[in-house]
Amino acid sequence: MAANPSVLVTGASTGIGATYADRFARRGHDLVLVARDRTRMEALATRLRQETGVAIDIIQADLTQAAELAVVEARLRDDARIGILINNAGTALGGSFIEQSTDDVTRLVALNTTALLRLASAVAPRFAQAGEGAIINIGSVVGLAPEFAMTVYGATKAFALFLSQGLSLELGPKGVYVQAVLPAATRTEIWGHAGADVNAMTGVMDVDELVDAALIGFDRREAVTIPPLPDVEQWNAYQAARQAMLPNTRQEHAAARYRTAV
Ligand code: NAP
Repeated sequence: MAANPSVLVTGASTGIGATYADRFARRGHDLVLVARDRTRMEALATRLRQETGVAIDIIQADLTQAAELAVVEARLRDDARIGILINNAGTALGGSFIEQSTDDVTRLVALNTTALLRLASAVAPRFAQAGEGAIINIGSVVGLAPEFAMTVYGATKAFALFLSQGLSLELGPKGVYVQAVLPAATRTEIWGHAGADVNAMTGVMDVDELVDAALIGFDRREAVTIPPLPDVEQWNAYQAARQAMLPNTRQEHAAARYRTAV
């Protein structure tokens, strides 16, 4: 793998993905941009080629469509220049669970989890074989919080976090770095897609600040990066509480409270 490997970014036409593309181009990495809107990606690529001189390819793909997703998977499997995958493409959905259609939540899961999983699965064996490479999965703090009333979206983001943590444990010893990035509310178009007015919200981070902070976590090789969380000890305590519970789950018998009915 090259010293400055190519970076494949999904959801690169706008928002967090476009900002990652900008930052990695400025670091001198060639790029492969993936999203549905070719015009926007062409505009971004033209600007970044001019400003940074890096080479940029574009793959127009709807990652909820198996055939189009397969093109991106093949590129990740076969193109040994690609050393960083940014699994960023994702969307949100307005409404409560009973208001959301079965087809809409299925599409949400297809994009936010299935596509992310298939792309990681396509590239991980090659990275492990090379003993290097990085996968960045964009989760969300919503994945920690069923209380936020974005149930299916949050479930997809909990998947992204769990997958990242598991892959970090599996692939880290093989030289592959896996980072989960958990933004909170960030000023992008995603809020419009979910039927919310981001300008009416408080506590919203600008996308440049979000990505620059996430990249500091990347450079430090953090497994989980939560840019807006002021006190990292809260996250560490949460992980410690979870880990402390684990040995207690291996029991021959049910817990005492389940040994008497009602
Ligand atoms: P965004 O501005 O809406 O951008 C989403 C990107 O994903 C776009 O480039 C879009 O491009 C692409 N995309 C959407 N559907 C796609 C599909 N079917 N196939 C391929 N690409 C598709 O959203 P964002 O805020 O930057 O979100 C990026 C990631 O951050 C998502 O995973 C999101 O869940 C996560 N996140 C965002 C926030 C936030 O507050 N903004 C907070 C936490 C986590 P096309 O439309 O051109 O396909």
